[in-house]
Amino acid sequence: MKRIGVLTSGGDSPGMNAAIRAVVRKAIYHDLEVYGVYYGYQGLINGDIVKMELGSVGDIIHRGGTMLYTARCEEFKTLEGQQKAIEQLNKFGIEGLVVIGGDGSYQGALKLTEHGFPTIGVPGTIDNDIPGTDFTIGFDTALNTVIDAIDKIRDTATSHERTYVIEVMGRHAGDLALWSGLADGAETILIPEADYDMKDIIARLKRGQERGKKHSIIIVAEGIGSGFEFGDRIEEEMNLETRVTVLGHIQRGGSPTGFDRVLASRLGAKAVDLLLDGKAGVTVGIEKNELVYHDIKEALSRKHSIDLDMYKLSQQLSI
Ligand code: ADP
Repeated sequence: MKRIGVLTSGGDSPGMNAAIRAVVRKAIYHDLEVYGVYYGYQGLINGDIVKMELGSVGDIIHRGGTMLYTARCEEFKTLEGQQKAIEQLNKFGIEGLVVIGGDGSYQGALKLTEHGFPTIGVPGTIDNDIPGTDFTIGFDTALNTVIDAIDKIRDTATSHERTYVIEVMGRHAGDLALWSGLADGAETILIPEADYDMKDIIARLKRGQERGKKHSIIIVAEGIGSGFEFGDRIEEEMNLETRVTVLGHIQRGGSPTGFDRVLASRLGAKAVDLLLDGKAGVTVGIEKNELVYHDIKEALSRKHSIDLDMYKLSQQLSI
């Protein structure tokens, strides 16, 4: 293999730049040429592809977002779109591709591999919902952004003795809600992976009131539904003044944490090693602090799981 490509696709996440940098620098270290594809699969179809040098990825390791930009591309879901992409890759003499993105992007990587084009997936999403890795690139940064926001909300919640409902991102996964809720001592955490009983929640809030708690923080994962609807229910059932904050896209931005930068550097470099090793259709990950890789198809067929012991712990600690 002499020439590889790299793209970012789907939702951006902090640390994607560090991953791009690792792919480019590791490839050049191994005397490969490396091309950056702009705008994800859309750029692949359009041939929006440029040669990257060592300096192309200078001064980006600490920046959020992705210097290669990202896009969602419906055309790539069709056979014609995929064939156009492969024509472009052939035109540029690219022999292997690293796709940094979430599970949608992985479906695209799988398609390319099935058409005979070696592709490796690097998990980049704040949702932490990619099977085959303990952590995805961007999760830790988003977690810290959420914690910072909740800390600030807590100050005003205490001052006004209010109940706050905070809706956090995560799509169908509750990881961001669970980790931030545990880190912030939230009274209640609602995640899609665990059933909840409104009566229990009310009883928990009442117990807190009775022992003189000044405020309550309830974290709602977006996969559960609207934070506003949940806030209305609490207000109706408890006659408690409730405020709702939807944190939204601030969770996707910001300078990546040290953890995400290191993770992105390790995973990006590993993807290059795997391509050089003749691997295709695999996703890189980290499990118990070891770099691992799994077949993309097998990983995508697994259901996302959450640490339910941690969920139980969050309930035990917020009695
Ligand atoms: P994410 O990668 O963050 O999960 P999306 O689900 O939007 O984001 O997927 C990003 C892109 O990956 C899509 O816009 C599309 O181009 C490509 N993609 C998603 N699903 C498929 C599929 N089944 N086949 C081919 N490409 C896909």
